[in-house]
This record gives sequence, structure tokens and C-alpha cells, in this order.
Amino acid sequence: MRAVVKTKPQPGAELREVDISVPAADEALIKVQATSICGTDVHIYKWDNWSQTRIGAARLPQVLGHEVAGDVVEVGRNVKRIKVGDYVSVETHIPEPSDLQTLLGQMHIGENMKIVGVDRDGSFAEYLTVPEVVCWINAPGIPPEYASIQEPLGNATYCLLGEDGDVAGTTAVILGDGPIGLMAVAVARAVGVAKIFVTGLFDHCLDIAKQVGADYVLNAGDQALDRVAIVREHTGGFGADIVLEMSGAPQAAAEGFKMLRKGGRFSAFGVMSESNLALDYNNGIVFKGARIYGINGRRMFDTWYRVRNLLASDRLNLAPIITNIIGLEDFELGFAQMLEIPRQSAKIVMFPNSSLLKQAQNRRK
Ligand SMILES: [Zn+2]
Repeated sequence: MRAVVKTKPQPGAELREVDISVPAADEALIKVQATSICGTDVHIYKWDNWSQTRIGAARLPQVLGHEVAGDVVEVGRNVKRIKVGDYVSVETHIPEPSDLQTLLGQMHIGENMKIVGVDRDGSFAEYLTVPEVVCWINAPGIPPEYASIQEPLGNATYCLLGEDGDVAGTTAVILGDGPIGLMAVAVARAVGVAKIFVTGLFDHCLDIAKQVGADYVLNAGDQALDRVAIVREHTGGFGADIVLEMSGAPQAAAEGFKMLRKGGRFSAFGVMSESNLALDYNNGIVFKGARIYGINGRRMFDTWYRVRNLLASDRLNLAPIITNIIGLEDFELGFAQMLEIPRQSAKIVMFPNSSLLKQAQNRRK
């Protein structure tokens, strides 16, 4: 089969012929319909510090990718829930049954969980194998380009809903105009957030934010713009009930704590290049009575269940976020678009099969 493989410990990747792997007893073999490019893939493609330490040269060659939708074509002998012919997507976090977190119902953050496309071969290929436990059966009729993005859409949904899902009628700030930030806007709109602010750096992405439901878009690069004052002004002077940090920028996080109202909730999702942040701890957290949630992954499988229902409801406006639909062989173009500054794209979905690619492109017309 054809696969996009990280072959060498240096920037880039190659389209290669590799063997289709045989599913182990607890695994399913999936024929890929669609697979989307994530920021994590870009880290590995660039072979930055994170990928050098997290993956390392010794494990190469490895197939990239983890966001996927496809059909189960073979299952191992111990597989019970998933059947040949099922139309599935894949939860990236593979839980370890013996982890404390798994036993406590927090399997998405288990100490020893593994990650598809990071700890094992991924989905930028015609086929991939994954353990049955991470196969999620899609609602029928969801086009593969949407089924493929459920993993990041799950990040957005979990980040927005938090642990209690108490968001209807609230005000929310979304810091960051990357694909997951934009998806959070669409979800916020669908679940009844009353006022949505988005900060970001790129006009193209802020335009998409408006299309999918943002009430206010605020350029984060504009030094003259007092974003904190604007959020306060439009929230009765209180600040926002919910702040989602989805930019990975230290300055945005610091601003976010100032935008948060007393007693509000801050969900930390974006990964910072520098982990030691300057933060007004007393006023930003203690006296504010802030609730802070770290968001890593998706609740398994509560988040997936909600995402499926939202997708099936047709209430999410995601079309403007899927900006590029391309063939798997054009992955270089996809990565170039992901790395382009200023960004002219949001979510990029690849299709290994040319007739499925054509169908997807026709759906957009
Ligand atoms: Zn992803």
C-alpha cells in the first residue's frame, strides 16, 4: 500500500510502498477513506525538538497521521464489538487497562497510554491497524471528511463543554484561530453559548471564525487593540464566563486570565513553546476563584458520543473550516499549507482513493 512515512530523523516525509500490517488478536484493519492533517503531524514532519525526544530516530520509519475515517476490512480473533464493514473513526489515545486513570474512568490521560501516529504507525496510508478499543463507529451518512475530523472536533467540544457542560447562555472567549479554535466556535454556536469572542493572528482564519458563529473577532497582533477591555465591555464589565486557551501563545494565556470573570472557567488546551509562564497567580487565579481545566484529548467516549450527535444534527457549521481536500499523494502541498504564514487554510483532509477524493470535492461545490 502507499503510505506517508517518516523515514529519516530530519524534516520531511516520503510517499512509500509499505506492507499492509496484519491485525493482532485485539486489533482491526481499517481501509482509510479520509485522513486529516493535525498540528502533531506537522511537529513530526518538521522533526522538531518534541518529535526528536517523543518519537526518536530509533523508531523510524513510521507512518504519520491519526485523524481518520474508514471501513473495517478485517478483525483479530478476540475482537467482538467491531465488525467487518463498520464505518469507523479512531480515538488517538490508546488506553492501558492497568493504568490508575483507566480504572478511574480517565483513560484518555492514562500514564502509559499510547498515541496513534506517534507511538505506532498512523493513518496517512491506504490502511491502518488499531486496537478495537479505540474504534468508534460513526453515524451513517456522515461524509468521511467530517468523520475524519472528529478527533480534533472532540478536542474542541471537550474544551468548550469542560467537565460539567454548563455552557448554555454563557459568554466565551476562544484564544486562537487554528482549526481547533474554529471548531470550538462552531460548537459554541450550536450548543447555545450566548456571546463568542475569538482572538487570532490571521485575517483568513478570523473570517472563517465569523462565518461559523463568532460574534467578535479580535486581532491578537494589533498592539493598539485592548482586547481585555473589549471583552469586558461586551460582558457587562464582568469578563467572560469561559476562556479557552487554544493558541499555545504565552501572551494569549496571560490575556485570557484577565478576560475571565470572577468564578469563571479557564480551559487550557494549547501547548506552549515555553512551559514556565509569567502569570498573575493571585489576581488571575486565587482571588478570581478561577476553575482551571487541563484538556488533553477527549473524554472516552462521552466526548465522541456528543460529537457524533452534533455532527448528525446538522447544527455544526464546519464546511468553512475544511478548506482543502486533496489526494494523499499531495501531502507535501498539505504540509506546506499548514506551515504557511499568514495562514490561508484551516483543516486539510486527504483521500488515498481518487474516486472518493472526487466525490468529496464534488460535495463542496
Ligand atoms: Zn489530531
